[in-house]
Order: sequence, then structure tokens, then C-alpha cells
Amino acid sequence: MSSSQQAIAQVLNGMASGSIKVVDLTKPLSEDTPVIALPPEFAQSPGFSREVISKYDERGPGWFWHTIHVGEHTGTHFDAPAHWVTGKDLPDNTLAAIPAAKLIGPVCVIDATREAAADADFLLTPEFIENWERTHGRIPADSWVLMRTDWSKLPVDAFLNMQADGSHCPGPSPKCIEFLVGRDVLGFGAETVGTDAGQAHLFDPMFPCHHLMHQAGKFGLASLCNLDQLPATGAMLIAAPMKIVNGSGSPVRVLAVVPA
Ligand code: MN
Repeated sequence: MSSSQQAIAQVLNGMASGSIKVVDLTKPLSEDTPVIALPPEFAQSPGFSREVISKYDERGPGWFWHTIHVGEHTGTHFDAPAHWVTGKDLPDNTLAAIPAAKLIGPVCVIDATREAAADADFLLTPEFIENWERTHGRIPADSWVLMRTDWSKLPVDAFLNMQADGSHCPGPSPKCIEFLVGRDVLGFGAETVGTDAGQAHLFDPMFPCHHLMHQAGKFGLASLCNLDQLPATGAMLIAAPMKIVNGSGSPVRVLAVVPA
């Protein structure tokens, strides 16, 4: 066996023996999945809906299937660079064009659970990440950076946390995203309904994770869960969206391969 064959065999043997586990970072997708609300002057994304084509009945006696209808950015989903105007002219900026090797990478998990519990508007900063790096090492290029807040555990009202002045959820500051672009990460992921903080329409630039990450050709993952089951480093993330031609994003099954 070549060394690369051995490496894959080790992962598969580890999964069979339980020394390597697969953690599902994906929320169930259904008619109950909450969708981000934009200010009323903008078009809104629909949630998920479906209709039965047939269900072992006269419409198709031996089979069951649905037609599904869903906004690209619904539930646990992937943001491609073309999602934002700043990424609209980049090469390979839509789902079907993204090279497959970019859909698998190392993952760094930054735990801001305590801070987010104390302040719904908590913002991740470069200083917070530099402090994390002092313990866990420098964030490697081409890695996913996930912000853990345990926000995914909240009931839907608290998850969206919509107030008179808009949503209040944690997220990255503009400087934080500049810092991560400087680390040349694959992308940024969050447990909240979108990758940006609830009040990010007031930031400069507006929605910095979208503006700056997608401008740099990088990706986003929103509405993740089970980040509490990941180590800070050492896991591998698989985030493969649907291969929609000219797609700006899609619901995605996000899996982490984790040393037990
Ligand atoms: Mn999105």
C-alpha cells in the first residue's frame, strides 16, 4: 500500500473502530426552518416547501417523491462568492464552478459561547482570535473558521432574536473578517441564521462577512449546529453544496471528521 492509501485506510479503520467519528453540523431542513428577514423594502427569501409528486398511489404506485421549493440561503447553507456584489466578477464564484478540493478542509473552532450568552450582540474581534491562536496555533491557510456560540440550541424566537430595531445575534466584526482574509481561510461559518451579526446592516462595510469574505473569493456557512462536539483544531470539514449552475448558495450537509 502507498502511504496515501494507508492514510485513507487509517481514516476508514478509525471510523469503523470508533476512534474517528463523524459529526453532523447540519440542522434538519423542513417547513419549520427559519429564514432571515430583510428590511421590508427588499425582496424576501421563501422558506422550504414541498408537494408530493406521488406516494405509492395511483400517481406512482411503487415510488414516493416530492417537488421541493426553497430559497438558496435556507437552513444550514453555503454562501458562494457570487452571493454578494463584491464577489460578482470573480472566477469560479458560483456553486457549480467551485473546485471540489475546496469543499474539504481543516477546521478551527473559536468558542465564544460565554461571550454570546452574556451579550447577544457580541462581536468576534482580531484580538479574540489572536488570543485563541496563542493557545491553538496560527489559523492555517485554506481552513474553515467556525464561530461557536451555541446559538443553534436556542428556540426559534431567541435564535432570530428580532427586536424593534432588527435582529440581535452575535457575529464577526469587520476587522475580524479582514484578519481572517489575511489568514487566507476558506471561509467563515456561524450558528446564526446568516454569517453576519444581527446588527451588521449598521457596520462599515455593511454585512462585513458577506462584503469582505466574498470579495476575497471565500465562502460562508450559516445555521450550523453541534459545534460543541468539535475540537478547537484537528478535525476535517466537508461542506459540499448542490452543484447548481450559477447558484449563489444552497442548503448543504456539513460533516466534520473528528478524532474521538
Ligand atoms: Mn447565505
